[in-house]
Amino acid sequence: MKTMKIGVLALQGAFIEHINMLKSLGVEAVEVRLPEQLADLDGLIIPGGESTTIGKLARRFGLMEPLRDFADAKPVWGTCAGMIFLAKEIGDDTAGRDQPLLGMMDIEVARNAFGRQVDSFETDLDVSVFSNGDKRPFPAVFIRAPKLVAAKGTAKVIATLPDGTAVAAQQGHWLVTSFHPELTGDGRFHEYFLSLV
Ligand code: GLN
Repeated sequence: MKTMKIGVLALQGAFIEHINMLKSLGVEAVEVRLPEQLADLDGLIIPGGESTTIGKLARRFGLMEPLRDFADAKPVWGTCAGMIFLAKEIGDDTAGRDQPLLGMMDIEVARNAFGRQVDSFETDLDVSVFSNGDKRPFPAVFIRAPKLVAAKGTAKVIATLPDGTAVAAQQGHWLVTSFHPELTGDGRFHEYFLSLV
């Protein structure tokens, strides 16, 4: 059986940590910086970092349309800045600014909605999609994270904070998380993404 090959968009941000987590799960993982590197991938992760920077670099490297075509066909997971990049709507925060978005998923997000860098936090989450009956909470790390303001159409919220704030969603083969599963020792979110692949 062919092993899965997963790309991690490596323009900026926390891509190494995703690569390491994927390798620890026995999957082939490669850094993606150019359109042709998407060709033989089974799935793609767009990491956290700074979404404006990721968007501008993606545009400069001619990746915007190739990434949209890839996402039409194959599973894509955006963590934090990656979630913003995949969203169709980002709030007024960036209105009028030059921030390229892939604009694939029917979600509305609000950037930096938990506050500044110093307001970053870690909390335990119940994640309903871990279908193997695993009830252990998932340790979620939020770093200047976006909030998921609304999931529309076929997009469904799959994790919320105790106060009801949505922090992860899925729409078909697209997954988004406000937080950073690659920065924990817990591979369950990566395994879940691989199950979509
Ligand atoms: N604050 C960043 C942004 O708006 C996202 C932070 C992150 O990816 N950890 O793009």
